[in-house]
Amino acid sequence: MATRRTVSILGATGSVGTSTLDLIEREPERFEVVALTAHRDVEGLARAAIRTNARVAVIGEAERYRALCDALSGTGIAAMAGEGAIVEAAETGAEWTMAAIVGTAGMAPTMAALRQGRTVALANKEALVSAGALMIQAAADSGATLLPVDSEHNAVFQCYPHGCADMVRRIVLTASGGPFRTWTRDQMRDVTPVQAVRHPNWSMGAKISVDSATLMNKGLELIEAHHLFPVGHERLGVLVHPQSVVHALVEMIDGSVLAQLGSPDMRTPIAHSLAWPERMATPCTPLDLARAGRLDFEEPDFARFPALGLAMAALAAGGARPAILNAANEVAVAAFLGGRIGFLDIATAVEQVLAAYDAAPPTTIDEVLVVDGEARRQAERVTELQAA
Ligand code: NDP
Ligand code: MG
Repeated sequence: MATRRTVSILGATGSVGTSTLDLIEREPERFEVVALTAHRDVEGLARAAIRTNARVAVIGEAERYRALCDALSGTGIAAMAGEGAIVEAAETGAEWTMAAIVGTAGMAPTMAALRQGRTVALANKEALVSAGALMIQAAADSGATLLPVDSEHNAVFQCYPHGCADMVRRIVLTASGGPFRTWTRDQMRDVTPVQAVRHPNWSMGAKISVDSATLMNKGLELIEAHHLFPVGHERLGVLVHPQSVVHALVEMIDGSVLAQLGSPDMRTPIAHSLAWPERMATPCTPLDLARAGRLDFEEPDFARFPALGLAMAALAAGGARPAILNAANEVAVAAFLGGRIGFLDIATAVEQVLAAYDAAPPTTIDEVLVVDGEARRQAERVTELQAA
């Protein structure tokens, strides 16, 4: 039997993590699981570790260590706990690591994985938004291969003339427009978390679903693209495409436009990164364009979705601005999901934090974390006032 590829999943219990496990479990002769991590979900983590016969399972919240040991007792799977243990899991030297922790909590583990010089499949967009230059540098220093998993960036990766940025005129990321694409601001005022999380095309974690509804997700993705594909921010654009079939477009200087298409199922870009540079089969519904019938495209509406403009301004300004934007957004989305602020308050809170706070461009991960922490404190204050 050919040697199996060793794989680890950071954020194994989430939406991307479980889709990754689904693919890995279909081809056990091809993949060997080293480490799986979660934050709180002991049961989900233990179940996945037992099913895949992982070497180690790590729970982020240290007080859940006992529960994890109990759940794994007699299996021979090592249990670990705490933030430091998640970083250790990222350093276990798997040939392929999925970085799928949500938020800047994923930054240290993702950096640790990049420093191993192996392959990192990157879903954790917030880390790239806040510390993109440092992460790209870490990959270059260690010789790691960074494969984008976010569907749009995975699409660009498949169309992009690698090493030849001057052949590209424009990169366009598509956005579904989210559940409120056609709603007025007045209609959006009273939307509930349940409505915001109900994405029309994709099934995803709560945080990114809210980001998709505000279009902040597309703004974060422009910043992500800026780090992954060095064409300059002025050559990055967004097109709303409600069917989510065309995931991104790469326009060449000769007028050719290359696009990647597929049914909206994260298992396609995950499989691309898992098998790369080869391909592997997936159970995704094949794309049937005759059945789809039509593909629509429209310009984004910056007036109804101000988060997108805030992100584009942060991208253009660079320095600490993307980290501040991201941290403020994480706090505001959590406040919205917790029922403390309204949907429209999310972008307003981010705008207020960006207006009140700036910092020198961070040059280390520790400096990014300082900026992130201060932006979070300011955002907590702003959202508390909004909640009052
Ligand atoms: P989920 O919320 O579904 O899952 C998040 C995962 O991270 C879970 O395993 C969770 O563990 C873990 N986690 C959460 N907080 C922490 C923490 N503080 N420390 C350590 N681990 C933590 O998120 P998604 O899978 O939707 O998204 C993951 C990342 O991928 C995000 O950055 C998102 O933007 C990006 N992405 C997601 C897509 C999607 O389709 N879902 C598409 C493109 C990008 P537990 O379950 O125990 O809480
Ligand atoms: Mg995306």
